[in-house]
Amino acid sequence: MQLRDAIAPCGNSDVRRVGLMGGTFDPIHYGHLVTAEVVRAKFSLDLVIFVPAGIPPHKRGIKISSGTDRYMMTVLATVTNPHFEVSRTELDRPGPSYAIDTVRHFRKEFGTETEIFFITGADAAVEILTWKDAKDLLKECGFIVATRPGCSTGELERRLQEARLHSAHCICVVEVPALAISSTDIRRRVGQGEPIRYLLPQNVENYIHKRGLYR
Ligand code: ATP
Ligand code: MG
Repeated sequence: MQLRDAIAPCGNSDVRRVGLMGGTFDPIHYGHLVTAEVVRAKFSLDLVIFVPAGIPPHKRGIKISSGTDRYMMTVLATVTNPHFEVSRTELDRPGPSYAIDTVRHFRKEFGTETEIFFITGADAAVEILTWKDAKDLLKECGFIVATRPGCSTGELERRLQEARLHSAHCICVVEVPALAISSTDIRRRVGQGEPIRYLLPQNVENYIHKRGLYR
């Protein structure tokens, strides 16, 4: 099935448009940054807010770096882009980090005059209907789904078709330059002494080595 690369149904160009990029960011890498930048430009977003998860509900039982380290790496990676910001909202909220709570937090902060889009990779988006209060979430904001190497587009389109039945907003798929980079692979590389240069910003690599992460 052909991927939909749609922008037209995604709202009014006069209002402020904000993207929320959720993730564990352990560590943040160029896959995340390219995705955010491509989506920002394509959807004329005024701002992309990176939201490192406090306790990712889908990664329970998996050891992750401290919120402070993940926040610091996300700030370091985004500092040179004037359209990027980092939020501590999920890190500072007790309990599992659910997208519905995060979107409502920003809705309250920005008011109804701002369009909010949740940005997610294809692997996360196929699970969307299993997220907490998924049907309410789909009514709260638009979803922009980035292609990711290794993710089947047929399965993605089937799941998104189902999600669209519950959505009052756009659910768009955007093709981003394929970067087969994952945080899991970066952690493994550091553990095995393999290079991670050019997979993520140099200042994030420096931070990883300085803090002795993933050894
Ligand atoms: P991990 O391997 O630990 O799961 P990850 O590389 O998948 O890490 P996450 O923090 O889980 O990174 O991802 C945050 C968001 O970014 C998710 O929506 C994910 O789908 C998306 N994403 C991550 N890497 C890429 C990539 N290379 N291309 C497109 N989207 C990506
Ligand atoms: Mg992931």
